[in-house]
Amino acid sequence: GGDRELLLNGIRDVPDHPKPGVVFKDITPLLADPRAFSVLTDALAAAVTRHGATAVAGLEARGFILAAPAALRAGVGFVPVRKAGKLPGETVGESYELEYGTAEVELHADATGPGDRVLVIDDVLATGGTAEASVRLIRRTGAEVVGVTVLLELGFLGGRERLLETLDGTPLESL
Ligand code: 5GP
Repeated sequence: GGDRELLLNGIRDVPDHPKPGVVFKDITPLLADPRAFSVLTDALAAAVTRHGATAVAGLEARGFILAAPAALRAGVGFVPVRKAGKLPGETVGESYELEYGTAEVELHADATGPGDRVLVIDDVLATGGTAEASVRLIRRTGAEVVGVTVLLELGFLGGRERLLETLDGTPLESL
């Protein structure tokens, strides 16, 4: 319907970013449009409530921008999952494979734990590596991951297939 159009109209294709041959999905027009941003925040907050999440984990960096207002609107806390070396406290980390080399995500060790029900939010699911590592990380603290919700999924990269194995029944949704 109209909301779907509003979201789609806020996403722009940028060819050859960050390198030749890649078409980057740029969500900055959506963020600049308060109506579209609000529709997105409502949809994400609804997912938080629907899953009975008690916390929202946002993935650096664009996941922060989407997850924080959704958490606030749904009345739950926000937890950052960051690239390695950024969080000041005691952390737990998970590495994952990139096309060339590896990357690592970190979470404060006391940010989530047993009894917490965490919804993971990011802007784009590409290969699924970031989301998969984040799910493993949150689970390692003893918390339950109740879902992964993204704005957009790049189907041709196989991220869903990769992530579903790890999720093992936990729902993955793209808006
Ligand atoms: P993955 O680990 O799934 O390959 O990559 C997902 C991460 O890279 C997400 O945190 C996402 O923000 C970023 N990403 C990859 N491709 C795109 C893209 O085309 N557009 C945007 N906005 N982010 C992307």
